[in-house]
Amino acid sequence: MAGKLDRLTRRRLLQGGAVLAGGAALGSAGRLVGQDGSLIDDFGGKQAPSGKAEPSRLISRPVVISSANGLKAIETAMRMLKEGKDPLDSVIAAVNIVEDDPNDHSVGLGGLPNEDGVVELDASVMHGPTHKAGAVASLRNIKNPSCVARLVMKRTDHVLLVGEGALRFARAHGFKEENLLTEDSRKKWLKWKESLSKDDDWLEEEETPKGAGGKEAVPFTWGTINCLGINEKGDIGGVTTTSGLSWKIPGRVGDSPIIGAGLYVDNEVGAAGSTGRGEANLQNCSSFLIVELMRTGLSPAQACMETMRRIAQHTEKRLRDEKGVPDYELSLYAISKYGAFGGATMRGGGKMAVMDKDGARLVELPSLYPAKEKRGA
Ligand code: ASP
Repeated sequence: MAGKLDRLTRRRLLQGGAVLAGGAALGSAGRLVGQDGSLIDDFGGKQAPSGKAEPSRLISRPVVISSANGLKAIETAMRMLKEGKDPLDSVIAAVNIVEDDPNDHSVGLGGLPNEDGVVELDASVMHGPTHKAGAVASLRNIKNPSCVARLVMKRTDHVLLVGEGALRFARAHGFKEENLLTEDSRKKWLKWKESLSKDDDWLEEEETPKGAGGKEAVPFTWGTINCLGINEKGDIGGVTTTSGLSWKIPGRVGDSPIIGAGLYVDNEVGAAGSTGRGEANLQNCSSFLIVELMRTGLSPAQACMETMRRIAQHTEKRLRDEKGVPDYELSLYAISKYGAFGGATMRGGGKMAVMDKDGARLVELPSLYPAKEKRGA
């Protein structure tokens, strides 16, 4: 059976050869190799001599992984896991640190606002042992949407609350309302607004000639924290929380609060999450796909890279560069039930934070395509 799955996987990956050109490709042993020839496989896990994923082997537990902005925060999740706390409570406690940080402009307090200058937050949580999930979208004025998402999971018969309804629910549970737009975020938003067009009445600061940069002066940015944790017993918790795409159209909801897109946990198999262009994950159910690929025997890193290849294949022309390569940021992260972990990015340069028996560290993510060349380089 394992051989059959391997052949299927290999064939599927080979079919992606054209898309993989210039990026990841299959090595001679049938394993994925990155553009620099390095093996794409579970970080921290040992390769089976056959190159096959070996889900039956326990690599190390507990393990916590997150997007790179969670490097400090994952230590909290790890401490709680070691104290025997619930895996979902542990990862939520970790992301709360980033949500509370006004200097992280991708999440919670200080997150970059929508085009009206209002911060709207999205978050989802999933609890492996019960397979329950909760989420909120377009939530205003509450800096810890992940905690509200957990209450949606625990205290309602629903999975997702949005906008005004989510805010009223949070209020009912005693959450404190506050203005999430920090001075720094407001200035960034104002700069974007002032540089939108040469033909409007907004004037930029004196030293910048009006409309000098045109539309590209302040590009939109992505940013989010995804955190996945597995305890010693193998129970998993996952959370994704974000202020979403900066300068978004009010009411825009990304992948982060959508179970199966920005987050998915299956306690029997593993968990996956993502940061970056949410629309790409929404169109491909990326987190669900990663977990399902792990179910067929792929390692976390292989499942992330295969999902990235699928997303690249589905990318419409207007989102590709002159070489036809998808021109946006996207990072995928996954852990397996057995403590293996891995990830992938669309273009080079992405990292993930990992904490296991070897401590907390950042590890480079293999990329499907080379990093973008810097302008003027
Ligand atoms: N995925 C998030 C969204 O599209 C943003 C991000 O991860 O940067 O809303």
